[in-house]
Amino acid sequence: MTIEIAPEALLPVAFVFGLLVGSFLNVVIHRVPEGLSVVSPPSRCPGCESAIKPWDNVPVLSWLLLRGRCRACSTSISMRYPAVELLTGLLFAAISWRFGPTAWAMLYCLFGAALICAAMIDHDHQIIPDSISLGGLAAALVLVPAVTAWTGGDFVTALWRSSLGTAIGAGTLWTVAFVHARVAVAMGRTFEHWPGEGEALPTPREADYWLWFPGLGLGDVKLLGMIGAVVGPLGVLDTILASSLAGLLLGSAQALSRGALGRPFGFAPAIAVGTVAILFLPRMWLLQVL
Ligand SMILES: [Zn+2]
Repeated sequence: MTIEIAPEALLPVAFVFGLLVGSFLNVVIHRVPEGLSVVSPPSRCPGCESAIKPWDNVPVLSWLLLRGRCRACSTSISMRYPAVELLTGLLFAAISWRFGPTAWAMLYCLFGAALICAAMIDHDHQIIPDSISLGGLAAALVLVPAVTAWTGGDFVTALWRSSLGTAIGAGTLWTVAFVHARVAVAMGRTFEHWPGEGEALPTPREADYWLWFPGLGLGDVKLLGMIGAVVGPLGVLDTILASSLAGLLLGSAQALSRGALGRPFGFAPAIAVGTVAILFLPRMWLLQVL
């Protein structure tokens, strides 16, 4: 299936659509971790609480025109808002360039939007909300087979493929996290947030033994499960390799810029970068290179 659109209009339309979606993602990123509604109330200035007028809420442009300040009280507005909007716009344009005016491109845009939210929220709070990871997984298990059937493929085969991708993605990361936790305990390492504050380590009879890990969170495991449903069993292996490389690069960059090696940081930004890279590279590209 293709969507009727003039070829030269596709990238600009996707870019502008991405800017608008990015504006909504900013709301999701700031409100979902706080357990607030993403629909109401309308956006307010963090400084003076005055409602932001629609014409002051145009993606990127308003921030530039107001020079990053609230119109009412001049409180400085973080550069992250236009940055997330621009990033989403560029990602949507790149996806439509790579996949054309297809249902797959729309699915990948939705997927990319979920990854941006997961990455930013994990960066800020070291958590990935279940509404994004498990909600995204449920959506992917329906949408990927539906788009496959829509484009002439087999619904049931696609559902199996997505389920296998989820099992491999979540299973691989869970195994890494579990083995790391057990080895760390065996070596006598303690962790700040370990259940029991390092005094009473969880035993195999407790859920924490199986589900709580230092460094890698269960949120990362669920996120990889969602990604596996979209990119499939082989794609998710590529994604794990690419995410590990991205994690190494992002972790080093963070350590250099802050001079604080070993400071905990969310892994989701690295997973998001690795996953997007995989969308644009030939299948099994990394496995061929390594
Ligand atoms: Zn204000």
